[in-house]
Amino acid sequence: MIEQLIEAGRRIVDAGMVKGWAGNLSGRFQGKIVITRSGADLGSLTQSDFVFINPRTPQWEQRLPQPSSELAMHLGAYEARPKTQAVIHAHPAHVISLGLLGRSLPALTPDFYLHLGRTTPLLPYIAPTTENLKTAVSLALRSATAIMLQNHGAVVVGKSVGQALLRLNLLEEQAAIYLAALAAGDPRVLSKEDMQILDRIAGGKYKRET
Ligand SMILES: [Zn+2]
Repeated sequence: MIEQLIEAGRRIVDAGMVKGWAGNLSGRFQGKIVITRSGADLGSLTQSDFVFINPRTPQWEQRLPQPSSELAMHLGAYEARPKTQAVIHAHPAHVISLGLLGRSLPALTPDFYLHLGRTTPLLPYIAPTTENLKTAVSLALRSATAIMLQNHGAVVVGKSVGQALLRLNLLEEQAAIYLAALAAGDPRVLSKEDMQILDRIAGGKYKRET
């Protein structure tokens, strides 16, 4: 799990979805939550950049390092989704841009529908690291596998680190497509009927994971 998180961190930085010491990653590992430390550079993580947390008594076991200041938000995600194995929080530019316009992201392509469902909701701005953000993220993730945080970034979950990373990449790609299309005109998005047909073609494969 930690090796996968290290690799995911490198890929997120390579893709330009976090800068400096922003963003944080976590996973379920041997009954605990393992999360990046506060101030870690996601592009060059090592084993010592991770902190182990007991989710029932969220105290960290080492005196140092301190866990990411977004620990509460990650714990909220795991509370909302018992099957989730990994949570990624990043600051993808196009996702943030779309959020500034007050827009959520509808399903634009069959791929989006398969991996992210009908729509990725936008959570109105809440200050980072707060209990309010934890509560709102936890609530939103009960019916979505990715959410946009207005004036901030994105949170995605997965049954594996790879699935969470795929969702993050897809979310950012589709946000870029949607912004370009909105700038040029009035984009067509997948209709309810389109999604019903996709459901039929794939025999349920395209059904939104909740
Ligand atoms: Zn952030």
